[in-house]
Amino acid sequence: MQIYFGIFHINIYICALKHAITMNTNKLGSRKPRILMIYTGGTIGMKENAETGALEPFDFNHLLENVPRIKRLDYDIDSYQFEHPIDSSAMNPTHWEQIARVVEENYDKFDGFVVLHGTDTMAYTASALSFMFENIRKPVVITGSQLPIGEVRTDGEENLITALQVAAAKDENDEPMVQEVAILFEDYLWRGNRSTKHSSDNFNAFKSSNYPRLAKVGLGISYRREVMWRANNDKPFRVNYGMDTNVAYLDLFPGINENIVRHLLSAPGLKGLVMKTFGSGNGPTAPWFRKALKEAVDKGIVIVNVSQCENGSVLPTRYEAGFGLDQAGVISGHDLTSEAAITKLMFLFGQGLGADEVKVAMEHSISGEMN
Ligand code: ASP
Repeated sequence: MQIYFGIFHINIYICALKHAITMNTNKLGSRKPRILMIYTGGTIGMKENAETGALEPFDFNHLLENVPRIKRLDYDIDSYQFEHPIDSSAMNPTHWEQIARVVEENYDKFDGFVVLHGTDTMAYTASALSFMFENIRKPVVITGSQLPIGEVRTDGEENLITALQVAAAKDENDEPMVQEVAILFEDYLWRGNRSTKHSSDNFNAFKSSNYPRLAKVGLGISYRREVMWRANNDKPFRVNYGMDTNVAYLDLFPGINENIVRHLLSAPGLKGLVMKTFGSGNGPTAPWFRKALKEAVDKGIVIVNVSQCENGSVLPTRYEAGFGLDQAGVISGHDLTSEAAITKLMFLFGQGLGADEVKVAMEHSISGEMN
């Protein structure tokens, strides 16, 4: 299907999972920035259901019709939409694979990619894609909005236009300014695997508490080259597929009891656990707690310690309460976000690594997710 906006046109491909996108090849000689938009759903494209009043994903035409300003960007834009756009709460690794495959199949044809996505799980998708994309040298900018694009006060139009500009931006050497998976939301561009949704209300919905912003959006977009990711080799881009979902969170709280902890640790198939701990990586000092963790580690379960605090790092040996976890064989997640920690575990197990290899890899950065 093609939609024409005066001299500007957008090709829309509504594709099912694993279907290759077809390109309009006569545009490849063009010197305009070439951007592929991937529409997965989310509030940005939602409409109110007349009966229930609830917001539901809607199709891409609706979204584009509501952003007439897009035609003032002198870009060649193609788009791909999920056959059934989703609320991002329904996102899962199959969808990540679908997005990754579209990027892989079109990597050489476009200067950059904009992924339209719901905010609820955007940080998980950004983290997962950042691990899957090896040696990436092009921008994958994920954005969405708090208010649907058809609403008068929507933040969606601004976010979409800015995301397209970021995806098209070049540095002084004519190389893509952004060469990583990033989240663009309202005033900031963040590294995707460092981001967390921190507000369900604020237009600045994302935060990256352990890593500086990649760019500030104001009258212009001021990029911070010194904090941007660059692949440190000349190997080609590749996508590593495979996510193992045999993972879980254990969120600690005062009063957590042995039955619950042991029940979770004995879940059939469990391979990896992200334990959200207090402060700088501390947990209950009760002997049963440490014993239960040690038994799980000895069985081959990888337990990663991340802090419930947004800012700062796990320092497992600072207090006895953290040291005990370290002694039980729990590994440090350093300054990982919990979204990055769980998707990294899924990714590493999904690559076929054994528990010992995963433990080593968890403590090394893959794509700038930890210091
Ligand atoms: N529930 C929506 C989603 O994540 C929220 C949003 O897009 O802001 O799809």
